Amino acid sequence: MNFEVFSVRTGESGMKSERDTGADGILANQWASVRAKLQQEVGDVEYRTWLKQVALAGQDGDELTLILPTRFLRDWVSKEYGALITAIWQAENASIRRVDIRTQPARGTAPNLAEPTIGQVSPGRPEARADVIAPLDQRFTFDTFVVGKPNEFAYACARRVAEAPATQGFNPLFLYGGVGLGKTHLMHAIAWELSNGPRHGKPVSVAYMSAEKFMYRFINALRNQSTLEFKNELRSVDVLMIDDLQFLIGKDNTQEEFFHTFNALVDAGKQIVISADKSPSDLSGLEDRLRTRLGCGMVADLHATTFELRISILEAKAIRAGVDVPAKVMEFLAHKITSNVRELEGALNRLVAHANLFNRPVTLETAHEVLHDVLKAYDRRVTIQEIQKKVAEHWNIKVSEMSSARRSRNVARPRQVAMYLAKQLTSKSLPDIGRNFGDRDHTTVMHAVARVTALIGTDAAFAEDVELLRRMLES
Ligand code: ADP
Ligand code: MG
Repeated sequence: MNFEVFSVRTGESGMKSERDTGADGILANQWASVRAKLQQEVGDVEYRTWLKQVALAGQDGDELTLILPTRFLRDWVSKEYGALITAIWQAENASIRRVDIRTQPARGTAPNLAEPTIGQVSPGRPEARADVIAPLDQRFTFDTFVVGKPNEFAYACARRVAEAPATQGFNPLFLYGGVGLGKTHLMHAIAWELSNGPRHGKPVSVAYMSAEKFMYRFINALRNQSTLEFKNELRSVDVLMIDDLQFLIGKDNTQEEFFHTFNALVDAGKQIVISADKSPSDLSGLEDRLRTRLGCGMVADLHATTFELRISILEAKAIRAGVDVPAKVMEFLAHKITSNVRELEGALNRLVAHANLFNRPVTLETAHEVLHDVLKAYDRRVTIQEIQKKVAEHWNIKVSEMSSARRSRNVARPRQVAMYLAKQLTSKSLPDIGRNFGDRDHTTVMHAVARVTALIGTDAAFAEDVELLRRMLES
């Protein structure tokens, strides 16, 4: 094996911390997220009474073990919440097939947190490789990365670096963009690609770690008076990847150390890949000389996703999961969940987990039902003003007509549609909505809602107009 990621080799002396970003860190993060969702799902009181004491014992392949202090609690939680916990876990991590709830970890299933998460496509366990590849998510390869307008440049740069590390102009490669847009995915993909064999007969060693992990290791080295080893270890790699560099802001000593490592590596002709949530010039709080050096290679932006890209991603993920998801459901998700790919993926996983759990096909109805809480959060983002504007544009009338007293059909109908949409897409009350339409009474709004609902049932062209508007407003 020519490929090595030293940061998470099992048995390394590095500390095990909650904030560790190795496979155990990933698992711990998932568990935190599952707990938060559980709490949301069952409410604070129930959560505190029954679920707060559930602890994560570990993962063994596709099986997770949770433990509770008493048998009574174990029986109760398994019976009352077992299915829910499993569904939420599967939504969080599609590779989990079974969640075992026990009073203590059974023999033979001792926590094996270094196990990499395994994608659904590869149910087999990678045996001896776990120690080497543990921190890299198996699902994060170039093959599984869906390319579209918003990310094609970053993708091309990542490909280029994977093919020819340390090429002039591409060193350092600085990838930046908002949360959940694929930065980590691309970094892992580069590492996977480089692991596919030696370059020019020489083994390539890659170190991938989050900036946070970098800091922990550095602090640990200071404490153990082993900074020299740490430096040498870092400086011996061919490719150094630091994820989420923004974490180093305000951590001056660590920044300093990183700066020196960075310079040493670049001077020695090694490749550096960095990710952050902002461009080098926007990362305020970073030392100027570091910022300057970061910007001297290739800077590639991962833009917010478009509707088309979201659909492509959903299609790819559904195929991988081997689940039949109707086009209508994908469109619905792609319209609703626009912020980032992680949430989009989470929603799809949840639908799939639900369908598996209850052995029912994925439909638009189940999507509404299962994603109720997620969607509610999105719905609140549409304002009455936006609705009025879009509807007015659609029928070519002035926005001011939404509040005017005129009652001629060509303005009254759009106004009714806007009221109807305001009721559907916002959480505003009828009187509230009325006030936003030239101080109309809530009964007028009620009438508008009833009128539009009736028309949708009888006039297909009108129904299509309304549906189109709804979609535009939701996207
Ligand atoms: P970031 O590091 O930018 O916050 P990640 O790389 O962790 O985001 O991506 C979040 C999730 O979305 C991951 O599961 C990743 O596989 C998925 N993802 C993001 N972009 C894409 C894409 N273009 N194609 C397929 N999956 C993607
Ligand atoms: Mg990331």
